[in-house]
Amino acid sequence: MNIESLLIHGGVDGDERTGAVNIPIFQTSTYKQPGFGINKGYEYSRTSNPTREALEKLISDLEGGYAGYAFASGMAAITAVISLFNSGDKILISDNLYGGTFRVLDKVFKNFNIFYEIINTTNLDAIRENIDETVKAILIETPTNPLMDITDIEGVAKISKERSILTIVDNTFMTPYLQRPLDFGADIVVHSATKYLGGHSDLVAGLVIVNNEELSEKLHFIQNSTGGVLGPFDSFLLIRGIKTLAVRMDRHNSNTKKIAEFLRTREEVNKVYYPGFEDHVGYEIQKKQARGFGGVISFILKDNVDYKKFVESLKLITFGESLGGVESLVCHPASMTHGSIPYEIRQKVGIVENLIRLSVGIENSEDVIEDLENAFREVRKND
Ligand SMILES: *Cc1c(COP(=O)(O)O)cnc(C)c1O
Repeated sequence: MNIESLLIHGGVDGDERTGAVNIPIFQTSTYKQPGFGINKGYEYSRTSNPTREALEKLISDLEGGYAGYAFASGMAAITAVISLFNSGDKILISDNLYGGTFRVLDKVFKNFNIFYEIINTTNLDAIRENIDETVKAILIETPTNPLMDITDIEGVAKISKERSILTIVDNTFMTPYLQRPLDFGADIVVHSATKYLGGHSDLVAGLVIVNNEELSEKLHFIQNSTGGVLGPFDSFLLIRGIKTLAVRMDRHNSNTKKIAEFLRTREEVNKVYYPGFEDHVGYEIQKKQARGFGGVISFILKDNVDYKKFVESLKLITFGESLGGVESLVCHPASMTHGSIPYEIRQKVGIVENLIRLSVGIENSEDVIEDLENAFREVRKND
């Protein structure tokens, strides 16, 4: 089945008992056991719940995985994945990735002697050079948040296999509609489903997909033991959001291309980070491993442009955290999504003060461009 159809019919397609076309919300914590050792496959909803299970089967089908697991947030999902490792292990991470992922490694797991090393994962030689016997995994985002660096998933997975370590890909920015990391040899995919998969800025959720039985058993054990599970109602909402992913992503893709090109023509803008530009260093790799460039653009305003005034002058585009919703959202990474990364590291990787991240929604692109034009006009009033 093609992915557009799988988004709608994958996982558990409707309710067998009643014929309802949507999976019901099984809002229950426990299940009646007719006798000792007898149950219908469910005992307690932390361990399994039919609505959550339908979502987990769906995301596993979409990513081409062995099994999927749903968590209360992207960070709960990432925390579960890092819980696979032991004291003394080290994880290599991309040099600009979601601030919360850096924070949980730096402020939580480091205290348990699970270490990380920041490297430029776009450079496969840098990865090779940094693998010693303590390194047990490489965690990449591609494109990265917020600078849209592209890492060659197949290249990383090849190195990981040679060294018998795991490749973990945060696929939040692409979704399985645009990119399926397991097809390129990754072992684990994580999502902040809060973003494109949910798509409507109305829920917080995380997903993990694994490519084999051994990882699946470990992940389910961690999910059940640590308990950061997604509730039945949010599982239902996420299934509902996923059904329209294909049409939303197509519009995100086309709108974003237009807006990236518009931003590039503006004299107030110093640099635009968008992997859909043919002169982006990762363009060819992106074309090889994904079927679109996604809905996020970051750009640096010129030093003489008041970035606060620019952001506050936007009317249609909402100023706020998050991305991937139907509405356009703008954020200031240095003080918001990436504020937990120390100043020196931010400067080093390029998350500078006048960097703006734009998550392009599915509105009419002309309206979004007009809003940006108005904001540029406002900041020029100062001149
Ligand atoms: C938002 C985000 C996360 C964290 O997910 P939450 O659902 O906010 O916990 C992780 N990775 C990426 C790339 C994100 O954008």
